[in-house]
This record gives sequence, C-alpha cells and structure tokens, in this order.
Amino acid sequence: MAALTDFGLIWGKIQELVSRIMSSSKTSIPRRSKVKDMSAEVVDSNPYSRLMALQRMGIVENYERIRDYSVAIVGIGGVGSVAAEMLTRCGIGRLLLYDYDTVELANMNRLFFRPDQVGMTKTDAAVQTLSEINPDVVLESYSMNITTVKGFDVFINSLKSGVDLVLSCVDNYEARMVINQACNELRQTWMESGVSEDAVSGHIQLLIPGETACFACAPPLVVASGVDERTLKREGVCAASLPTTMGVVAGLLVQNCLKYLLKFGQVSPYLGYNSLKDYFPTMEMKPNPQCSNAACVDRQKEYMESKPARDAAAKAKIEAEVSSVIEEPLHLDNEWNISIVDDSDAGSSTAANTSSILPEGLVHELPTADKYSEQVGPTVTDGIDDDLEELQRQLDALNSS
Ligand SMILES: [Zn+2]
Repeated sequence: MAALTDFGLIWGKIQELVSRIMSSSKTSIPRRSKVKDMSAEVVDSNPYSRLMALQRMGIVENYERIRDYSVAIVGIGGVGSVAAEMLTRCGIGRLLLYDYDTVELANMNRLFFRPDQVGMTKTDAAVQTLSEINPDVVLESYSMNITTVKGFDVFINSLKSGVDLVLSCVDNYEARMVINQACNELRQTWMESGVSEDAVSGHIQLLIPGETACFACAPPLVVASGVDERTLKREGVCAASLPTTMGVVAGLLVQNCLKYLLKFGQVSPYLGYNSLKDYFPTMEMKPNPQCSNAACVDRQKEYMESKPARDAAAKAKIEAEVSSVIEEPLHLDNEWNISIVDDSDAGSSTAANTSSILPEGLVHELPTADKYSEQVGPTVTDGIDDDLEELQRQLDALNSS
C-alpha cells in the first residue's frame, strides 16, 4: 500500500512538471501580426479568405463591416466561451467578456478551456486563448459579478461605450433579470441563450426593448425535454451538461448574431432545441403592456409612438424593391439557363412519386438514380429539339442585351 501511495505522489509530481513545461512553452508560440484590412485574396496565409468568400457567394453584402461591431458576452461558461471563440474567429471588432468565476477541472467536459488554465479567472483565460487565435480582435475582460450593486454600475457603464449587441450566456434567472434591466434602460438589443439543467435542450431568444417581449414580460420559455422535473430539482444534485448541446446552442446564438449584425437571412425571434427529438420550435413574443419592468413599459410607449415613421419607411422600401424588380429584365438573373421542370410530366410512376414526398423545407439535390438514367439515357429523345430551340433563344436574348 505504501509503495502505491509513493507512486501516486511521484506520478502527481511528474504530471505537474509536464503541465508547467507545456504552459511555459506555450508563451513562446509565435503570434501572427495584426491584419490591417480584411482581404479576399485566396492564399494560405490569409485568415479571412473563407469569410470574405461569403461576399463573392452573395450571402453577405459587406463582410468587413464585422470589424465595426462590438459584442458583449455575459457569462463565459459552456455557451459563452464557445460563442466568444466563434466571434473571434469571425473577426469581430471588439468583445467585452463578463464572468466572476474561475476555470475548474469540472469544466473540462465542455469546449474551450484547457486543463492548464485551471485556477485562472474565466475572462483572463479567455483573453489568453482568444488573443492567440486572432490578435485583430479588441478584447476587454470584466472579472466581476454583474448582480452586485457595484458590478451592475460597471456593467451598465461599459455598455455605454458603444455596444451593438449583448449576448446573455448566464446560467441563472437573477443574472438574466439584471441584463434585462440594463438593456431596457439603455434601449440595448440583446440575445438570450439557455441550456436546460438536464443538458438535453436549449434555446436562443432575441430581445429588442419595446418591440419584443422582455425577460420580465412573460415567464421564460424553455423547450420541454420530457424528463420529469422532480429528478432535476433535488437538493445537492448538480446540473448536467454536455459539450454537444452547449456547442449547438452557442452555434445557433452566434449564427443569429452574425445575421443580425451583417444583415443577411432571417433573424430568429426565438429558436428552441430539443436534442432528444431533434425538434426546433420557433415563435414570436410580443411585449406585455402590464410588464412589471418600468423601463420596458417606457420602451413599449416609444415603440408605439414611432409606428407611423416605421410604416412609412417600410412602405418606401417595398416600393423601391418592386420598381427595381420591374426594371430588370428577368433573363439576366438566369445566368446558368436553369429552368423549372413542370411536375405534371415528370413521369407516371406512382411509386416514384410517393417516395419523393419530403417534409417541408427539404429538397433533393440530385434526381433519384432511376430518374437520372432516364434523363441522360438514350431512350429520352422527346423534346430535345424544343430544348435546343429554347437554349438558342435564351442565348440570342443574352447576346442582344
Ligand atoms: Zn417587459
């Protein structure tokens, strides 16, 4: 037994020595220098070439604008740390990080933090890792509790420095209510995220003061996992967590954040995730006129008062879009001569038709094997002349324009 204990002690010392050597060697890793402008040049040394390609693909109009934005992340835990890493890799301009906790070995089932960072504050550890990944991002570390009087003052003053979006990645109701209060007072748009204590469901939510429900307007919505609540709330039972669920929720949150900041796609007002059934419910929530939060009620009044101006702007935008569509000749959009196939003459086999029924929103990228051989095989000759004539007509139209 004594020999075993000695071995345990020696082994512990060896591990400590190895981790010290590892952490000291990390400081000598060469860092890349800052990049002045985001370039779309496709070279191995360009950290932004794959992001700038979003512009060429027509997804984002001006990707480089991401450098103008500041995002505050409250709670650098399983969701917040991953969200911070994603935004850093995307080249966000400035990140403000808030947390009062330190890194523990019990956090290692999640992503981002490393065992050699145990004992560091989560914000300092995050700044260490994120500045290595992308030195272009301005990082601000706030190691404090926003639910204290002093912490709230520091929090609200830091948001006044010009923050475009606040991401709430905290794990308790009280901290969410504090973020809600600060954002309602400052007319600050924010996004809330959460993962259930049983680790199998989560959600993200967009909150625009006065326009959407605030966190005090209605009881918070969570996705039911179907697990008995009584097994969750027992004293002394610690919350479960999975890197998968937290990674998914962080991904959904940052995706919504990128869409909001860079103005592409549809920004989700609420998106839930039930991992047991792979169910993603969405919904919209209107503010409650009887909300207990006075700042929320004030914002609701402002929002109602600005309705005529908003309606006029929306009408002008629609009119501008309609007139631009009418002016543009249609065939210019059809650069690759893609034509829509009429379903009615797509074959008479009922078996093939029933197998092609798909849930809403899903389409086949390629025809089925049978259809593919029909389309390219020698037996299909009908209509080829017509197709050639149509192609010639489209080419003539392109050449003459
Ligand atoms: Zn409210």
